[in-house]
Amino acid sequence: MRDPRYDVLFEPIQLGPVTAKNRFYQVPHCSGMGWLRPKMLAAMRGTKAEGGWGVVCTEYCSIHPNSDDGAYPYARLWDDDDIRDNALMTDAVHEHGALAGAELWIGGNSVANLSTRLPPMGLTSLPNTADDNYHPVQSRRVDKKDIRNILTWQADAAKRAVQAGFDIVYVYATHGYLLAEFLNPITNQRTDEYGGSLENRVRIVRELLDVTRDAVGDKAALACRFSVDLASNEGYDAFGLLADIPDLWDVTVPDYGIEMGASRFVKEAELQDSVAKAKSLTTKPVVAVGRFTSPDTMARVVRDGTQDMIGAARPSIADPFLPKKIEEGRIEDIRECIGCNVCYAHDTLGVPIRCTQNPTMGEEHRKGWHPEALSRTTKSEKVLIVGAGPAGLEAAQILGKRGYEVMLAEATRDLGGRVTRESRLPGLSEWARVRDWRIGQIEKLTNVEVFRESRLGVDDILAVGADHVFVATGADWTVDGLGRRRDTAIGVGNGAKILSADHILAGDETPSGHVVLFDDDHYYMGSVLALALRSRGNTVTLVTPAGRAGAWGKYSNEEYTVTRKLIESDVRIVTNRSLERVDAGSATISCIFTGRETTIEADWVLPLTRREPDDTLFHSLRKVCDDGRDGAPKSLKRIGDCEAPGMIASAVYSGYKAAVELD
Ligand code: ADP
Ligand code: SF4
Repeated sequence: MRDPRYDVLFEPIQLGPVTAKNRFYQVPHCSGMGWLRPKMLAAMRGTKAEGGWGVVCTEYCSIHPNSDDGAYPYARLWDDDDIRDNALMTDAVHEHGALAGAELWIGGNSVANLSTRLPPMGLTSLPNTADDNYHPVQSRRVDKKDIRNILTWQADAAKRAVQAGFDIVYVYATHGYLLAEFLNPITNQRTDEYGGSLENRVRIVRELLDVTRDAVGDKAALACRFSVDLASNEGYDAFGLLADIPDLWDVTVPDYGIEMGASRFVKEAELQDSVAKAKSLTTKPVVAVGRFTSPDTMARVVRDGTQDMIGAARPSIADPFLPKKIEEGRIEDIRECIGCNVCYAHDTLGVPIRCTQNPTMGEEHRKGWHPEALSRTTKSEKVLIVGAGPAGLEAAQILGKRGYEVMLAEATRDLGGRVTRESRLPGLSEWARVRDWRIGQIEKLTNVEVFRESRLGVDDILAVGADHVFVATGADWTVDGLGRRRDTAIGVGNGAKILSADHILAGDETPSGHVVLFDDDHYYMGSVLALALRSRGNTVTLVTPAGRAGAWGKYSNEEYTVTRKLIESDVRIVTNRSLERVDAGSATISCIFTGRETTIEADWVLPLTRREPDDTLFHSLRKVCDDGRDGAPKSLKRIGDCEAPGMIASAVYSGYKAAVELD
């Protein structure tokens, strides 16, 4: 039963000629699928519609080969083939009574047209401006004929969008693409009617809105994605000039680090003040994101008039059934996004998105996985899971839902494994949702028993006599320095003091003094530990073989914020250096290009290079199974970090996969 406090989220809303059945709006978000994987895309978007989202949009959708973001698989509407591909998605969305939106997109200086090999278009002829790609590609300056072409291409693409079955068609005027270049007085140095005054800079957006309206007629609503910034009136003035033209405003802010910020730095509803001001300037409905996972916050921002619709990308990825769960009064079942940006990172890598919280994301078509539906077992079998980290917890709740008799044994008092340890570190508290949601699900299942403080050995396991055993015992950080950069261990002299990452993760007291952290992991752990040590009063030097600290954060949209925080916290960053040896009071590092060595003062050295799977138990059990000893299980499987240490998302995926594939 739905809580009446949330009724406001289920009121239909008129968007020009179409009506959305509720206020849940999956905003355009990239998927790593796009034109390249249309069936995968249709299945993924269709699942969200099934989960109750009233509107489900594409990712950025190119109107012409001149807007090509290869090698990222964006959507596109260039020709009849693309109409057919996009119709797969709109059909899947319509099947569940939702509206489908197409975010028509025009590139600019930040795209390199690497696939189509056309010169990109920019307001100034500039080298490709995409963050840190450094493609040796420079754009062609947009002239009047190009503007006429763009208007024609947009109109043609809008007609194709309608043919493909879209109900909402966008003019996309933000995120640094060509229209944002027009709006920005710094990048727009034109002296004709498209440059100079605000009216002139807004002109192309207005003209695009007009041609799109003419193209879609009364078949589709006209939407505009637009940025406003409380720090400047410009954006609001521009917004005001267009205020009542589109049928729907999709409002955001010009800082992607906030809009798409990791939960380490940005919390729920961060955009609300910026959005509320825009909303006060228009009579048209407004949608905006804010990594909304709390129905109370959602209902509040609609009720208090901040926005009319709840925009979501990540919350809809973590839980495609979020609206349905609110509607059915199953709030505790909502799988809340943890803001880790693993989804975005994989789009940025050009592969299908995945999700830490939702292992079925991206596997709806390829594997036929569904975020809510599971096949039940017909057998009466007992499964023992050893280790209650993310892999073990996920396997336990899935096997429990499938009807197995499940025993989950955990060596320590705390469930959650690495998630529990990592979520105690600065900024990572939301990561505990991975553990808490799974524990919540397990607590509802009478066929899953949890045994804490139960470190199991081979004989204990044989005594249980389970039909199947999953070993989910995790992995430990090593201190030998072996890893990506080094294939031999570091040298260790007399009196050398080496600190393990697990020591800090366990919450043990940290020694005082200067810690040299050798980060050959390159993801979040290096910066998180460096900042944790700083907050405990240590002096910290972060040494990395990469050209930047936390270099993989480039994909998860964290790199800049992370590096800024490190600099502001006085963490010294030493790049392009490897760790060679540790002696009492010092560390020897070497230049990765010349091999030249230097010695730096160090009370402690913390090598962060690799984790060793905790698989001794697994191998002993395998021998027992091979020997056919009494009580040996019919099947034995290692899952999660015990099999191959990786991201938390990989451990959850591994637990889910093993659990759904049993039988
Ligand atoms: P993953 O990410 O693969 O889930 P974690 O390291 O997060 O792995 O979790 C592994 C869990 O397994 C830890 O909570 C650890 O205490 C537990 N564990 C390790 N060995 C045993 C054992 N022999 N019996 C029971 N639990 C164990
Ligand atoms: Fe949220 Fe992380 Fe899932 Fe992305 S991958 S939706 S940020 S939980």
